[in-house]
Amino acid sequence: MTPAGVTLGTADTRRVSGDRAELERAERLPAAELAELRRRWWDERRYVYVTPGDELARRALRGFPPDVRALGERCRIIRFEARAGGGFYGDRNEVELAAGVETYEGLGQVELSACHELFHFICWNDPRYRADEEQNFAYLRHAVRESRDTLADFPRYRAWVTGSFLRQGDHANPVEYFADIPTNFRDTRELPPAIRAHFAPLIDGSPLPYDLSRPAPWPLSRRDTELATFQRWLAGRE
Ligand SMILES: [Zn+2]
Repeated sequence: MTPAGVTLGTADTRRVSGDRAELERAERLPAAELAELRRRWWDERRYVYVTPGDELARRALRGFPPDVRALGERCRIIRFEARAGGGFYGDRNEVELAAGVETYEGLGQVELSACHELFHFICWNDPRYRADEEQNFAYLRHAVRESRDTLADFPRYRAWVTGSFLRQGDHANPVEYFADIPTNFRDTRELPPAIRAHFAPLIDGSPLPYDLSRPAPWPLSRRDTELATFQRWLAGRE
């Protein structure tokens, strides 16, 4: 265990050699000075502060409904020795997040990264949304299709989906979209109504308007479930 109480795989614990306050002070430096500091830290493979996984889950899920927080906080977050990277591993039902995210990307970014990974865990472990995933996201795809004509009324969502999300190529798929919506939209009023209805239980605790465990009442053709179709619908097209 490191002084911060973090298990770092094969870590040389001397590399975690600061605290949260030191990192907060560093982040207030002018950008060029911070970049230089990070360059020197990386020369030493130093992690200034690594948030323990359970504390990180609590921080990342602040403001979400109590049932969502309770579920997400059950997820183990392993901090491994690397500057960046991470993921959710369904086979182990665990999240891994690089120990360097705080030091090299920032204390704000680590919470956003953890939030994204925790919503992969929540999709996999909340019986309602897991049921939709098991029918190939039939309800989620339908909500995206229904949102097409309403994008103009939700400029922040439209700018995010077209300017950021869809730029990721193959990564712009239903699984990643699911994790990104609660991470990027804490105010459901910024979401088109069909998207809002699907995600609101996770964001503001509203009830779902449909039962995701029932077979979707509309047939999805093979073409409807192609990635290109999902991306076209996200962009508001046909
Ligand atoms: Zn992801």
